[in-house]
Formats: sequence, structure tokens, C-alpha cells
Amino acid sequence: MKSIKKIIAFVLVLSMVFAFASCGESANKYVIYSDNSFAPFEFFDKEKSAYIGVDMDILAAIAEDQGFEYEMRNEGFDAAMGAVQAGQGDAMIAGMTINDERKKTFDFSEGYFEDGSILVTAVDSAIKSEADLKGKMIAAKKGTVSTTYAESIKDKYGFTISYFEGSPEMYQAVINGNAVACFEDFSVIGWAIKNDNVKLKTVGNVVNPASYGFATKKGNKAELIEMFNKGLANIKANGKYNEILKKYGYA
Ligand code: GLN
Repeated sequence: MKSIKKIIAFVLVLSMVFAFASCGESANKYVIYSDNSFAPFEFFDKEKSAYIGVDMDILAAIAEDQGFEYEMRNEGFDAAMGAVQAGQGDAMIAGMTINDERKKTFDFSEGYFEDGSILVTAVDSAIKSEADLKGKMIAAKKGTVSTTYAESIKDKYGFTISYFEGSPEMYQAVINGNAVACFEDFSVIGWAIKNDNVKLKTVGNVVNPASYGFATKKGNKAELIEMFNKGLANIKANGKYNEILKKYGYA
């Protein structure tokens, strides 16, 4: 009887030790959100059964350089912004454009990539400029700077907007003719056309060039932004950053 009690006591103590240890572990790990289909920055690799891409590699290299641990959650762009604002995540890296509007609610790292939005249509489309969107429906991805841009010119040019959660759904709407165009980051649509055989084309020039940055909720996790910036400078200096861009066809 005594020994049974001892065993129970021992098991209880052991489980408390484990519970405490795993608690400590998760407390030391940052939770970082991202998009789930935004190649070449983050996209699912079936063979590796993992998310890969420029953002995934840059974050991994910076975390290694700075010695912090993190857990990735690739749940979509608008979802990532919501999760960071709600405090479910510590930060996000998602091909996220740095701008003044977002600086009201996010803190950003230094920029790590330059990009901008461009008008995208079906391959056989006659649309030559934004003026040709009059009376038409365009597709837009929720929460993006491309969408903010489209909203800012929609009354001037007289078009309507249909909203989508992810880039693939937005492209599909244009491909199947439910929308005549969309706006997307130039390097991302370029990748999709070149590498994923997406039957779309770009029209005109990039409209709002800006940098991508790593972001936290404003006033939160300043140490994480600081580590990201230091790590970014280090991987730029040691060649790792260029190696990553090269791997995905840049630099
Ligand atoms: N760069 C764009 C933005 O920040 C799109 C990002 C994305 O769709 N992942 O709004």
C-alpha cells in the first residue's frame, strides 16, 4: 500500500515537472505568422511537406544568427495581420509592405526586399490601363496594399471589387473571367506566371514601390525587431541573404 502511494506521488511530481518544462519551452518560442500561398516568399512544398520561400529562409537564418526559437503559422495574409494584432502571434513575415498607415498599428524591421503592385489581367485581355476597368469587376486580396490601392482609384475609374482571402483564389477569378483584373505584387505574379504556369499577364508599370518588412504589433516585442535587424545585417554581411535570394531566382 505504501509503495503504491509512493508511486502515485512520484508520477504526480514527474508530470508536474514535465508540464513545467513544456510550459517553459513554449514561453521561449516566438509565434510567427505568415501567408500560406505567396511564392516565392512563402509557399507549401509538397515534397518537403513544409512551407518554404524567401521569407521562411530569411527568418530561419536570422533566428539561427540571433539564437532565438520560433514556431511558424502559415495561415494567410489577412489572418496573419489579425493574429498579430490580437496578440495570438508575436510577429509576422509575409511579404508585408511597410507603409505609414500600417505603422499606426505595427512596428516594422528594416526593409529586406523591394516590391510594388502591378495590374494583372487574363492573357488575352484587351485592358491596357486602369481607365479600361470602367464598369468592370476586379478581384482583390483582403488586407493587402494592392487592395488599398484598388479601393483608392475605384471611384475615379468606376469599377467594382470582389474580395478574396488568398492570391490563388484571386488569380482564379481573373482566369475564369469572374473578374477582369487584379493587382498583385510584381515579383509574386512574376513568379506565378514563370514558375507555376499561371495564365495571366502584367499590364503597365509597378504602381506603389515599397519595402517588405518583418512586423510586430505596435509597442510589442521591440527585442524581436531588434534581433531581426541585427540578424538581417549579419546575413547580408556574410552572404547568406544573397544566397537565399539567388536560390529563388533573384540577385
Ligand atoms: N505586399 C503586399 C502587402 O503587404 C501583399 C502581401 C501578401 O499578400 N502576402 O499588402
